[in-house]
Parts: sequence; structure tokens; C-alpha cells
Amino acid sequence: MGNKEEKIACPKCSWEPDGKPYWMCHCSCVWNTFETYGKCPECGFVHKKTQCISCHQYSPHPDWYLDLDNIDLVLEEEKVEKL
Ligand SMILES: [Zn+2]
Ligand SMILES: [Zn+2]
Repeated sequence: MGNKEEKIACPKCSWEPDGKPYWMCHCSCVWNTFETYGKCPECGFVHKKTQCISCHQYSPHPDWYLDLDNIDLVLEEEKVEKL
């Protein structure tokens, strides 16, 4: 459908996510982590490491993106505002 340029694959075994929700947050939300760049849609927690469904190894989330230029990764620590 859309012209998706993003190329996503496991840095360890090259498994490519198929868009299904394989990842579970500690809040028990299950979703496709690549739709939100690792951010849980339920509790907002950003998962910096992503486990591969194929080889079960954890890799930093940005390492999964082969075309880093095309995406806007928000992986900095969330700023805690202290007034
Ligand atoms: Zn893998
Ligand atoms: Zn969550």
C-alpha cells in the first residue's frame, strides 16, 4: 500500500519483522514495537532494546533500522521537567 522505505531487520540474524505484534511490555501490552520505535502505546515506556523473535537476542532499537535517515528516532532520555 504505502511506499515504505524503512528497512528493518535484526542486526544479529537479519530476521525481518512482519508487522505483527510480537513484543510485550512489562505493563502486559502487546504490540508491534516498530510502529512506535520501541515506545509502548499503553504506558509510554520506551524500550531501548528490542528482542528478536527469531534468534531471541536483544539489540538496541536503532540498530534494527538499516535506513536511519528516513526515520525520526526519539531515543533520548525523556526530559523530566522540574519546576
Ligand atoms: Zn535475530
Ligand atoms: Zn507498557
